[in-house]
Amino acid sequence: MRKNFSRILLGWYTENKRNLSFIGEKNPYYVWLREIILQQTRVEHGEEYYLRFIKKFPAIHLLANAKEDAVLKMWEGLGYYTRARNLHATAKIIRDQYNGKFPEKYDDILRLKGIGPYTAAAIAAYAFGLPYAAADANVKRILARIFGMRDPVNSPEAEKKILVLAQKLLDKNNPAVFNQAMMDFGAGVCKPVNPLCDVCPFQNVCYAFQNDLTDVLPLKLKQPKKKKRYFHFFVIHGRGGNKEKNTVIIHKRTMKDIWINMFQFPLIEEKRILSFQNIHKTAAYKQLFKKSKLILQSESKIFYQELTHQSIKAKFFLLEAEKMDIICPPGMFVTDQKKLTNYAFPGIVRESLKELQYF
Ligand code: SF4
Repeated sequence: MRKNFSRILLGWYTENKRNLSFIGEKNPYYVWLREIILQQTRVEHGEEYYLRFIKKFPAIHLLANAKEDAVLKMWEGLGYYTRARNLHATAKIIRDQYNGKFPEKYDDILRLKGIGPYTAAAIAAYAFGLPYAAADANVKRILARIFGMRDPVNSPEAEKKILVLAQKLLDKNNPAVFNQAMMDFGAGVCKPVNPLCDVCPFQNVCYAFQNDLTDVLPLKLKQPKKKKRYFHFFVIHGRGGNKEKNTVIIHKRTMKDIWINMFQFPLIEEKRILSFQNIHKTAAYKQLFKKSKLILQSESKIFYQELTHQSIKAKFFLLEAEKMDIICPPGMFVTDQKKLTNYAFPGIVRESLKELQYF
């Protein structure tokens, strides 16, 4: 089976390859961008960002020279913003330490910030034709099913075993095609739920199919429970003439927490979601706004956002203030409502802004 694996896979791929803009791309900068964007992102959604990104930053030095706020703004809506910050930091490293030229050896690529074994292997294979198997979630699922692997695929032991196996199966003459074929096969046939076993060329040799275990394999370790967080955002406008009315207070998140260096409205976190009546009695509210008089205009519905390790619920309170500059808490600033589109906001804040028709 191991001998025939690559032949069967590439036979399937010849007939079924997807038509995506980045297939066959060899520029290591573009391959790297694509791989980082596609982590945790659907291909169709990611492709749109990829095309926008390479239009805005067509060369690595342009990304390196950009302001972090501009990079985060381009990333807005993709989530997992550490990826964008690492991308920017790595572009600077390549500009400063590699003379702007992407390193060509696997070990050098792996040393770059935000690049793990999977991404390093993908860049090495797609951009430089080096014989490295890129084992992402698709590959883990396919191999666990076909070879009947019983270790949870998200355990370090299984990751090592899968990488060794994928490396053995790899077509060393066509590493880029092999890796792409595995991705496409995992996305189109051996899908996480309801795999298309009826049309699968591995059906006769697949352990999971032969043993009726396709909905059992791959096994996974249970993820730890998500931390629940309850955010109360205050969208504060001036009360005066039109100029004041069109201003709003925002804040750059610089604390060591989620969404570093992104923007938000003044925020109070509590142990549950509170109404305005209750939140404005809290010590945190009094501390944030001192004795400023804020008049409630409306209170939003509850918004939700799921992150890898956190579950966020948020409410937005639309308020009016007598004097914007006076009430503005330290570390925050007053900006024109029309300029809000220049700032990168977390998904949950962006969603509320759409609802408020600011965007
Ligand atoms: Fe995946 Fe089904 Fe094919 Fe096995 S037979 S590799 S489970 S699609």
